[in-house]
Amino acid sequence: MKYISTRGRAPSLSFEEAMLTGLARDGGLYLPESIPQMSAEDIRALHGVSYEEAAFRVMRPFIGDAFTDDEFHEIIARAYAGFGHAARAPLKQLDAGHFLLELFHGPTLAFKDFAMQLIGQMFEFSLKRSGNRVSIVGATSGDTGSAAIEAFRGLDAVDVFILYPHGRVSEVQRRQMTTPGESNVHALAIDGHFDDAQARVKDMFNDFEFRDGVRLAGVNSINWARVLAQVVYYFTSAVSLGAPDRKVSFTVPTGNFGDIFAGYIARRMGLPIDTLVVATNQNDILHRCLSSGDYRPDGVIPSISPSMDIQVSSNFERALYYAYGQDGGAVAQVMDELRAGGFSVSQGALQALREAFESGRCDEDATRAAIRQTWDRTGELLCPHSAVGLHVAEDHRSADVPMITLATAHPAKFPAAVEEASGIHPPLPERMADLYERDERVTRIANDLGAIETLIKERITH
Ligand SMILES: *Cc1c(COP(=O)(O)O)cnc(C)c1O
Repeated sequence: MKYISTRGRAPSLSFEEAMLTGLARDGGLYLPESIPQMSAEDIRALHGVSYEEAAFRVMRPFIGDAFTDDEFHEIIARAYAGFGHAARAPLKQLDAGHFLLELFHGPTLAFKDFAMQLIGQMFEFSLKRSGNRVSIVGATSGDTGSAAIEAFRGLDAVDVFILYPHGRVSEVQRRQMTTPGESNVHALAIDGHFDDAQARVKDMFNDFEFRDGVRLAGVNSINWARVLAQVVYYFTSAVSLGAPDRKVSFTVPTGNFGDIFAGYIARRMGLPIDTLVVATNQNDILHRCLSSGDYRPDGVIPSISPSMDIQVSSNFERALYYAYGQDGGAVAQVMDELRAGGFSVSQGALQALREAFESGRCDEDATRAAIRQTWDRTGELLCPHSAVGLHVAEDHRSADVPMITLATAHPAKFPAAVEEASGIHPPLPERMADLYERDERVTRIANDLGAIETLIKERITH
């Protein structure tokens, strides 16, 4: 299995190379050259198997010879052993024909654990084999950084450095980053905004001497291995509602387009998905683009669903690649236009996008109302991101196809917003109830590239 760039001008790579590289050299994102198919028979055979076994069968055709079957079984087993629910991604009924896919039972209470835990184990196996070490560096507005630290803590071949904006993440998010005691974990609180943290990480990747010296690696949401891990729960949830003999629809709270793009891949593999609905908060560039064909970022307006406060949705490039008939030149051109302010999707590509996705937006008041009403009607407390999904899903349901809304975080990860909307304080799950008592360890650092690079060089274990 070879991986090619969405912009068509980078060398094709193996799964392992694409995973360790992240971004392609031509600025594009990696995708499999062709998409493996699951027959109706293969899908039917997923009935009654464990999440781990389903994960093995869905992902195996994509990884080529990166791992033996035994290794890959072990990687998957380790990745999901720390989840707080035996089903890993349980499906809960909310109403007639409407289901919630709970993706928040991982160690940091957000769906990002599904991909990050897996990628942590894959890095460890791959690096041990080659004898190499890497330094993972990432910027976070909260969820990605905590998931990365949790996935890489204590692994031998990796140091993990996470930059987060000082004073601008929730207390739960901060504590999840600052309380792991392992010496390979480095939480860095930068004086600045998320955009500053993100910009310094980009600077580090562009400083080739530094990048090669510390063997920098990235695990942000454009990494193909992360998308692949998320394809699995589309299969497991659809199968539990009768796939492949019955169609299902999905609504996905979306920011960087990674999670919903995984659903698109599941469909292209053969899973009978009726509708894939993109749900945005008030930062609605994706909904606007699917409605008008115009993709033009303006400023981010902070919301109570902060993990979706995004204007440049990086994985959308992958959807554009297919919408433009796998023409890397056309994708490269619209991405050039984006750098100059924005672009208009061609008529043909817009039609293809609309055949693949529906969309909707949910403003702040509607988000709070969805949390409150769902609590009143079902006794389920939703996090604000999941509430955005639920609100949009209601407009896209049909009588004969079940709707599955993805619940992307646990309500206790965003307690202030949830309490304001519902009057209920969401408690942390038992297994992490002592989070507020654990010791914190963090380095405050200036928004200064030289200072950050010096610190990383001093800290890495050679
Ligand atoms: C990251 C995140 C999202 C958005 O997911 P994308 O893959 O970026 O679209 C939604 N909800 C929560 C809680 C998240 O952490």
